[in-house]
Amino acid sequence: MYAVAFVEDEKCIANKGCRLCILYCPEADTLKFDPVKKKAYVVESRCKGCELCVVVCNNAKHNAITMVMR
Ligand code: SF4
Ligand code: SF4
Repeated sequence: MYAVAFVEDEKCIANKGCRLCILYCPEADTLKFDPVKKKAYVVESRCKGCELCVVVCNNAKHNAITMVMR
């Protein structure tokens, strides 16, 4: 088991232009924008569990990312 980031669609405001987590994630092609749903999402197989995306999303008061065990 290991922790990976998970974006809650209901809280994510990527549809309003937010890309903070996508910009800050240090792993390439891991936090991405879904052009259909217009939300951010995590490619779980690539996530290293650093939680940086949680910090930046929480700092911006969106609180849309949680760590989940896989
Ligand atoms: S930082 Fe939060 S609100 Fe912004 S795109 Fe990422 S998950 Fe969505
Ligand atoms: S936990 Fe780290 S590696 Fe995983 S999506 Fe967030 S910023 Fe990227």
